[in-house]
Amino acid sequence: MLAWHSAKTVRSICRILPGAMLWLAWLPLSLSQTREAGSPKFHIDSQRLQRTLEKLSEFGKNPEGGVTRLGFSETELAAREYVTGVMKQAGLQVRVDPAGNIFGLRPGSEKLPILLFGSHIDSVLHGGNFDGDLGSLGAIEVIHTLNDLSVKTRHPLEVVIWTNEEGNHFGLTTLGSGVAAGQLGPEILDRKDDQGLTLADWLRRYSQDPAHLTDARIPPGSLAAFLELHIEQGPNLEENKIPIGVVQGIVGLKRWMCVASGFANHAGTTPMNRRKDALAAASKDVLAVRDVVRAEPGRQVGTVGFVKVEPGAVNVIPGRAQFPVELRNLDTEVIDRMWRRIQEKFTAIDKEENVETSCTPLDDAEPASADPAVKSAIYAAAKSLGLATMDLPSGAVQDAQKMAKIAPMGMIFVPSHDGISHSPKEFTSWPDAANGVEVLYRAILVLDDRLNHQ
Ligand SMILES: [Zn+2]
Repeated sequence: MLAWHSAKTVRSICRILPGAMLWLAWLPLSLSQTREAGSPKFHIDSQRLQRTLEKLSEFGKNPEGGVTRLGFSETELAAREYVTGVMKQAGLQVRVDPAGNIFGLRPGSEKLPILLFGSHIDSVLHGGNFDGDLGSLGAIEVIHTLNDLSVKTRHPLEVVIWTNEEGNHFGLTTLGSGVAAGQLGPEILDRKDDQGLTLADWLRRYSQDPAHLTDARIPPGSLAAFLELHIEQGPNLEENKIPIGVVQGIVGLKRWMCVASGFANHAGTTPMNRRKDALAAASKDVLAVRDVVRAEPGRQVGTVGFVKVEPGAVNVIPGRAQFPVELRNLDTEVIDRMWRRIQEKFTAIDKEENVETSCTPLDDAEPASADPAVKSAIYAAAKSLGLATMDLPSGAVQDAQKMAKIAPMGMIFVPSHDGISHSPKEFTSWPDAANGVEVLYRAILVLDDRLNHQ
């Protein structure tokens, strides 16, 4: 029995998954065949996963590959119908909340808070086929697998498909989870899109009553945990040949808008030593941001995304240059320290270039830490499969960030080829995708077993 595991591994699996019910979940695996170490057979059906993902990729398919499936669009609406159908096939009790989030419930055997897991199916413009989609259909695959193996859980399990995670429509990222976590409310309903339609209009198109938006809030204490499987969207796992990333937290970010003010003057007649060139100063500022961020050890990042120059003529010295500064890190103190150094550099550059630069805060998102118990369930799940793990931050905004406000949160990452995401070239190999879903399946069972004992 379990020939592919050493006796020690079997003992550790028993520790991870005690209880007759859970042991039954492993039985079909152990009886069906003998496996080589390092190539354990999965409980999940990787072909079913691939089929559903490929079918989902038809909705909003682009000629160059990938999809455009914005949140609140006819394309996404059709995709939601497809996914809802798959959820129903998996026996889930499906409901949609007033923010448009889709939930599918599988009852548990005890009266316990819900174990929630899932992701999103909206994309950016010209996005890929894995961002959000893998975590969404992977979550439904977990339910299919539990059904196939007749596994009962103590906790009720719920799959969620969050609305408008990317926020390309209405400029609100993680909209659905933000409402569910109580961080967004009716103030967002009047936002208009390019066609002049409000968010309230779109919610009505999604068969929801915007007047009841706040009913989408998840009451505190009703979730045992939230778990999300996602592609890394960065190069670390692939570069290090590690199949599973254990997210330590989702980075916080701060953004400022800066304006360098000089003096617009004749490009032919103003001597070089009398110039107040706002663009020359801003150019040094851009490099100063990069230098400060690079000077710290760690995974922090800093970006100047654009520079708007005025008046913007070939024969006029730029009088005004506007640019944003964005800093991201798991630790807000590091962000604040980098920002102080950047400001010192800006002041020195102002003196050199004879301009004045001022910056005002634009945006601010708190970092969110993954919960130790959820992380430990992911480590245990990966270990039981013989898969190596790597600790990582999520540099991208995630629904899990919002969920961390109301529930213990964790995320599983799988490799992104070449670290590319939000692109038709976004790719995760099928074996890597299947690894992630199997780890999700096992982590859910570990959490079900470990959490909420009297
Ligand atoms: Zn995503």
